[in-house]
Amino acid sequence: MQQDETRSVAVVGAGMVGVCCALELQRRGLTVQLFDRKPPGRETSFGNAGVMARSSLIPFNNPGLWAGLPRFLTNRTAQFRYNPLYLLREMKWGLGFLSRARPSVFNETTQALDALIRLSLPEHRRLLQAAGAEQRMRDDGWIYLYRSAQAFAGSAMARGVFDRFGVATEELDRPALLDLEPHLRPIFERALWIKDACSVDDPGQVVEAYARLFQARGGELVQREIAALQRNAQGIWQLRGADSSATAAHKVVIALGPWVNDLLAPLGLAVPLAFERGYHQNFVAAPGARLGRPVYDTAGGYVLAPMEAGVRLSTGVELTARDAPANLAQLKMTEVVARETFPLAAKSGTPWLGSRPTLPDSRPLIGAAPRHPGLWLALGHQHIGFSTGPGTAQLLADLMLGETCSINPAPFRAERFIA
Ligand SMILES: Cc1cc2nc3c(=O)[nH]c(=O)nc-3n(C[C@H](O)[C@H](O)[C@H](O)COP(=O)(O)OP(=O)(O)OC[C@H]3O[C@@H](n4cnc5c(N)ncnc54)[C@H](O)[C@@H]3O)c2cc1C
Repeated sequence: MQQDETRSVAVVGAGMVGVCCALELQRRGLTVQLFDRKPPGRETSFGNAGVMARSSLIPFNNPGLWAGLPRFLTNRTAQFRYNPLYLLREMKWGLGFLSRARPSVFNETTQALDALIRLSLPEHRRLLQAAGAEQRMRDDGWIYLYRSAQAFAGSAMARGVFDRFGVATEELDRPALLDLEPHLRPIFERALWIKDACSVDDPGQVVEAYARLFQARGGELVQREIAALQRNAQGIWQLRGADSSATAAHKVVIALGPWVNDLLAPLGLAVPLAFERGYHQNFVAAPGARLGRPVYDTAGGYVLAPMEAGVRLSTGVELTARDAPANLAQLKMTEVVARETFPLAAKSGTPWLGSRPTLPDSRPLIGAAPRHPGLWLALGHQHIGFSTGPGTAQLLADLMLGETCSINPAPFRAERFIA
């Protein structure tokens, strides 16, 4: 009993990050309970574009951001919209984010994200196999689209980074692109096929499959909203449910995506998180049209991805409060451009909105919470939390169990932002 108690872990949040943490800690012999107020994978991990790509090592705050800034600040691009009042309120975050676009920080961040992504992708393959969901994964990359040779030339910085990190890519001219994706409209002069990438046809179902695997291996999944955390005099964490229930655990992992500060702030551990919100809308492809793999329209800043539910259009960034009412203007703007890219027929389902939780340096925070023994954090996964859940889980488990770290933990440590 004593043994069990000291090895008990409560993971709070059953998005991709939390479910992967639960699976990995379970694999390493801990007794894991996984809590979420909803069924697994119903929030941010549900509505994303399902892309898992080595090219995602370049964050939004990269040295190229400065050149695009005057255009972004007009607040008229489909790629980036913002609420000026929110930005004013979050000025410290905004300045921190911009300042970390400088080359020295960017170099550290790309190295860190590359390591995390490389750790994650093979593990996703193993998990998909173990969960009986391997048919959901396509292993044929994704494509960046450019309307002109000039636009392609403008991507030299990104291509240089891909080359430096050994990300497998192939440049395509218009005929080569149409060989690969014959139903794209012939408006793209150039394209870059990122071959080191895969994608899934239903991100929410993948999280659910992983959660079922966790349960099949003996893990306990509890649907409960956690309202507060407290460590008692014996060093045991108490999780108070919104239903007034109480659960004890020796260790707690917070994997609450955009909601982390709801539980961290009362402990004096709030992290500087902003919300890069994004929308999706699924469409039926026009008769006879088929998209083989996700494509990223670099000018429009959106992704079109083939899903089980149709072709999913995911928008770029809307920087505003997490709980601000949905504003469909960006999605509508993007739809117009997307229809020029691929023959989309009717909408299927309703628009979806989620928040990418982003720290000023665009690196997730993975590790022990300062000053709170037994409290562990896995948060801030911005645009890449669906792909990097498994790597996050491995690093977190390495650190928790005092094992040799699979990758350098320093770029992800909590002390970057929590004193
Ligand atoms: C439009 C869009 C496109 C994206 N495309 C991609 C992509 O192609 N590839 C990629 O890798 N990433 C992508 N992302 C990012 C990715 O979706 C996120 O980084 C990732 O889903 C974050 O996962 P998470 O587990 O941290 O958070 P979430 O999935 O949000 O999980 C947090 C969980 O916490 C639960 N919760 C909250 N509060 C409580 C509480 N008090 N008690 C109990 N439970 C609680 C919620 O119900 C939720 O299930 C995209 C994001 C968006 C918005």
